Amino acid sequence: MDTKYIFVTGGVVSSLGKGIISSSLACLLKARGYNVTIQKFDPYINIDPGTLNPYEHGECYVTVDGHEADLDLGHYERFTDIQTTRANNVTTGRIYQSVIKKERAGAYLGKTVQIIPHITDEIKRHVKALGLTGRFDFVITEIGGTVGDIESLPYLESVRQLRWELGSSAMCVHLTYVPYIAAAKELKTKPTQHSVKQLQEMGIQPDLLVLRTEKHISPEMRRKIALFCNVAPDAVIQSIDVPSIYSVPVAMHEQHMDEIVLRKMNVPKPWGQPHMAPWMNFLERMHNVHETVTIGLVGKYVELQDAYKSINEALFQAAIYNDRRLKLVYVHSEKLDDSNVEEKLKGLDGVIVAPGFGHRGVDGKFAALKWCREHDIPTFGICLGMQCMVIEYARNVLGLADANTTEIDTRTAHNVIDLMEEQKTITEKGGTMRLGAYDCVLRKDSKAAAAYGKTTVSERHRHRFEFNDSYRSRFEEAGMLCVGENPVTHLVEVVEVPGKRWYIGTQYHPEYSSTVLHPHPLFLSFIKAAIEYKDSVAPTPADKN
Ligand code: GLN
Repeated sequence: MDTKYIFVTGGVVSSLGKGIISSSLACLLKARGYNVTIQKFDPYINIDPGTLNPYEHGECYVTVDGHEADLDLGHYERFTDIQTTRANNVTTGRIYQSVIKKERAGAYLGKTVQIIPHITDEIKRHVKALGLTGRFDFVITEIGGTVGDIESLPYLESVRQLRWELGSSAMCVHLTYVPYIAAAKELKTKPTQHSVKQLQEMGIQPDLLVLRTEKHISPEMRRKIALFCNVAPDAVIQSIDVPSIYSVPVAMHEQHMDEIVLRKMNVPKPWGQPHMAPWMNFLERMHNVHETVTIGLVGKYVELQDAYKSINEALFQAAIYNDRRLKLVYVHSEKLDDSNVEEKLKGLDGVIVAPGFGHRGVDGKFAALKWCREHDIPTFGICLGMQCMVIEYARNVLGLADANTTEIDTRTAHNVIDLMEEQKTITEKGGTMRLGAYDCVLRKDSKAAAAYGKTTVSERHRHRFEFNDSYRSRFEEAGMLCVGENPVTHLVEVVEVPGKRWYIGTQYHPEYSSTVLHPHPLFLSFIKAAIEYKDSVAPTPADKN
């Protein structure tokens, strides 16, 4: 079968969940045995989201090949179990960068370089790049932004041209919003009609409409939308609010989204049924949980939950596989100190200390870690969280009161966390951290190795600073062991205090590789420890069930 291209656009408002719809469709096609990939085109000028403050676009996701990517790629991986790469996320910045580079190299042979055809050609080349590898039956392309945005225009023009070129091997799914007007007690289809009209004005006829809604959309209303929008009546489907995003693939399948796509793309029958049993098993466990596990997330971006998207999802998945519902308590690290830490953290079953950059909020992280360590609360430090674990241990156990990371204090006498050697000469900010997957070898007798069930793992990184090896023996003598290290560079990757219930810090980001069907072993083990701790301190009859 030649590669089929599915474009996903959005209209009316942003944040409708194009990423979830794209991921759900990919999940269903994969469950039918097809090779699928999803890519995201972001219409901003940044080369990648690595330089963006998390308040702008939420978390920065990292691919195994070290690309700093849009958080939607995290959804793609969590829903499909298929790893993404640099090729799966392209921004306007990257498109222009490559066109300008070609222009400087004289590649345009004296022509005036213009948005059409040069920018659009470059977009089209990137759209087809993954398809041309021959590895995929379906390439789903999510166009960021909303129809009508100035920034999105070159992308939509490229989609128009590609649909023309690819004929029946391309289709367009358009996601819109059907608002419920409480005063009139009515759902309104007008914004959807306008949004589709806008797409049509650009020469794009959507093949399938997905309507985001809070209330059920009646068959008559769907027929009306189909009529106004030139779409087959059965190709108007609703995406009604559901308690968990992981129910969306099933909701889409119930409305035959995958079959509509196969039909549209002329995929020969018989199609069979998607093999959704493992996914349904997860959903069934999710629907049957009654007890909770309460985890505190200590970080400075807690006002915006998307800032810690992958951690939230990894915790949620791990909780379900431990038959618990996750209750996540956000603890603002800037509002935390020794005087209020007990009040803020008491009652939590486990604490995660989040990644981050810069000095803001680190004192709160130190206060949290000291309290958690002294009260033996299951504690998980990730990246900056791990570095803070090391610093707090140096200050309060090794007695090095001024221990610090040179990220915060360049002149500290005890630089237990310091800039990596290869980072010292780098001045450019974008894409220059230690990024992507590296191997880590774990000590056999460590809790981390027990959690993974193996001693060699590969995990993703995003940092400039590292554990300062010259302090290693002092830490080890004082009870904090360096149980994971890179086999080539010997950089410390995992620290652990074995005397504690669960006190582990990872320099890498395990959250990026936790998926619905393969929850991350460290998160599973952390949640298990949190449940055991909860049961040990307050055993109630309900807890014992
Ligand atoms: N700021 C730290 C570093 O660069 C940690 C980064 C992170 O938490 N992702 O090393």
